[in-house]
Amino acid sequence: MDLFEHQAKELFARHGVAVPRGRVAWSPDEAETVAAELGTTVVVKAQVQVGGRGKAGGIQLAADPAEARRQAERIIGMDIKGHVVRRVLVEEASAIAAEYYVSILHDRAGKGFLAMASAEGGVDIEEVAARTPGAVVRVPVNPLVGLRPYHVNQLVFGARFDARARKGAAEVLGRLYEVMVRADCTLVEVNPLVLTADGQVRALDAKVTLDDSALFRHPELEALRDTFAVDPQEQAAKERGLNYVKLDGWVGVIGNGAGLVMSTLDVVAQAGGKAANFLDVGGGASVETMAAGLEVILSDSKVRSVLVNIFGGITRGDLVAQGILEALDRLGDRVRVPLVVRLDGTNAREGRELLAKSPSGRVVSAATMLEAAAKAVELGGAATGTAGKREA
Ligand code: GDP
Ligand code: MN
Repeated sequence: MDLFEHQAKELFARHGVAVPRGRVAWSPDEAETVAAELGTTVVVKAQVQVGGRGKAGGIQLAADPAEARRQAERIIGMDIKGHVVRRVLVEEASAIAAEYYVSILHDRAGKGFLAMASAEGGVDIEEVAARTPGAVVRVPVNPLVGLRPYHVNQLVFGARFDARARKGAAEVLGRLYEVMVRADCTLVEVNPLVLTADGQVRALDAKVTLDDSALFRHPELEALRDTFAVDPQEQAAKERGLNYVKLDGWVGVIGNGAGLVMSTLDVVAQAGGKAANFLDVGGGASVETMAAGLEVILSDSKVRSVLVNIFGGITRGDLVAQGILEALDRLGDRVRVPLVVRLDGTNAREGRELLAKSPSGRVVSAATMLEAAAKAVELGGAATGTAGKREA
């Protein structure tokens, strides 16, 4: 789960990371008030969870409270790469002498943390890394050892930070590491970390991704949730205790067990489709879980067909079929897309017989996984006329 910049900065501030003074504002009125409180030139920043806000015009300086109000009027409601701005962060403007990049993230391949630094901050770091790989310094950090002064030196000297910025940057890095560990983050990224004209080092931007699986340890962070941009399907799935992951295609995928679900995604790709999501109903899926799962998947307007792939072990095919029928019944004419079902294993035959009796006319059975995927892709493409081709 990603935090908004203002939330990430609040978290930073609690751990002693230097950030500009400021506060979030939900209206031009409030932006004016915050600017007046700060009593200095401010920067008004669109709060959306996407980078490149500066280039999109979502970050503006304002010399006085009246101008802060005008900028907030312009920025609130703005669409930045498909994200609508609902709030702005108003904070004291910084006089920037230099912009750097620092981050700490989970490095799954390296089985530890990875700390990174670059003296070319303020721009897209992927671009920097592609253009001049040497400009980004990467230092693996063993979590059992922690971030030590020698790591920090490798970062700030390796990335050639200005001498005036080294001490401040070293301090920020140490505290970012604290944030990373204490708040169970998978990423903390500061781009840019700036050296101000008067020699201070502070985080001008902040990106934090929290580890969802550790949120239970952080009730204070979970409390922020209502202000997160939560995807409605992900929220619905979480409430029903389902494992749901949103993707960007158009075939809804339900399976039982992580392995089967993963191979179902592969097969959908092999058949020329692209999965819209996947939902693992787990072992021993009941009527209720199946129905809840289908409800979640079918509520996503991007889904043009659904592929249900169940291998019955503990899970019984007849119960899965009952769940599908129950969901179809509950959802009624909200079901506008075809459902391709491949049932195998325990009670698969009984399940298929039940499905064959479905009055909805939306259910198509398939004997094998590949056949099911091909049908789901074909039917989903046919539903729009273009979706299948677009992905080819
Ligand atoms: P992003 O574009 O979404 O990554 O947003 P950032 O918060 O990183 O801001 C983008 C750029 O706006 C920064 O790299 C700065 O150049 C500029 N900027 C942001 N805040 C200030 C500020 O307080 N003063 C000045 N002069 N520039 C700022
Ligand atoms: Mn940035």
